[in-house]
Amino acid sequence: MDFPKPYRVPFDGKFSVANAKTKPAQATDKDNLKKQLKQLVKELAELQEMLYAQDQYALLLIFQAMDAAGKDGTISAVLSGVNPAGIQVVSFKQPSAEELDHDFLWRTTKNLPERGRIGVFNRSYYEEVLVVRVHPEYLSGQQLPPAIDKKTIWQDRYESIRHHETHLAKNGVVLLKFWLNVSKDEQKKRFLARLDAPEKNWKFSAGDVAERQHWDQYMEAYEAALKETSSKQAPWYAIPADDKDYMRVQVAQIIVDTLKSLKLAYPTITDKERSQFAEARRLLESE
Ligand code: ATP
Ligand code: MG
Repeated sequence: MDFPKPYRVPFDGKFSVANAKTKPAQATDKDNLKKQLKQLVKELAELQEMLYAQDQYALLLIFQAMDAAGKDGTISAVLSGVNPAGIQVVSFKQPSAEELDHDFLWRTTKNLPERGRIGVFNRSYYEEVLVVRVHPEYLSGQQLPPAIDKKTIWQDRYESIRHHETHLAKNGVVLLKFWLNVSKDEQKKRFLARLDAPEKNWKFSAGDVAERQHWDQYMEAYEAALKETSSKQAPWYAIPADDKDYMRVQVAQIIVDTLKSLKLAYPTITDKERSQFAEARRLLESE
């Protein structure tokens, strides 16, 4: 299986947020991007149908980003053509008391897609090494036993994630992880737009501005997480997010190319089935 290369975070630990682009390298043409997206959405729908018919792989798409980077919009734009029965989108918010009483991979594991389906995680177990790393006080809510070393906890978490993802990959789950990389300036513009437009007010939450104060710590946490967990069985993609149309096309293209590389095919008909079909035809035609 071949994972597409553009925007892929290298597997050698040499990723830096400072060098990751938030904007496309060249000027883009909105109409052209919209056309491209339409075509990709169509291809994706066809590929998902084959994924389902073949029933060997599940596809898991993980989306992580700062607020207002466009996770929701990207998920709905890219997956809008797929048969709703073939897809499940799950959002992970602050963990509940029940979730905190389990290990940090429990709640996402319960929501993994079954074979033949596309699972989308809007946030994921990566929150554990992002928001929790930025706010280590959240760890106290987890009631971890004293023997767990707080000095190595992030390294230990990365290791758990790598093992988990290797396990999934070895069991037919194809994983793609997207970091929608929005710039700090663009986030500010989008927050202000949410405040300005009454129909966008509902998207605004004062807490998002508070989180913005921790921007640099978040970038450090993203850099460490992507470096430590981008692997050949579960690559990260750092997608420029300041231009939404461009971002959506990149995400859709990576998903389509990945599915194509699986060489999906409809199950072939056996000789026995072929003769059953012939018999069914005979019965129908003789009615
Ligand atoms: P929206 O686009 O609707 O704002 P959202 O994904 O930002 O969607 P919110 O309810 O605004 O949803 O925020 C969810 C919050 O839950 C985020 O701030 C996120 O960091 C936090 N969260 C998710 N997982 C964890 C976790 N394991 N521990 C602590 N906080 C978490
Ligand atoms: Mg939010």
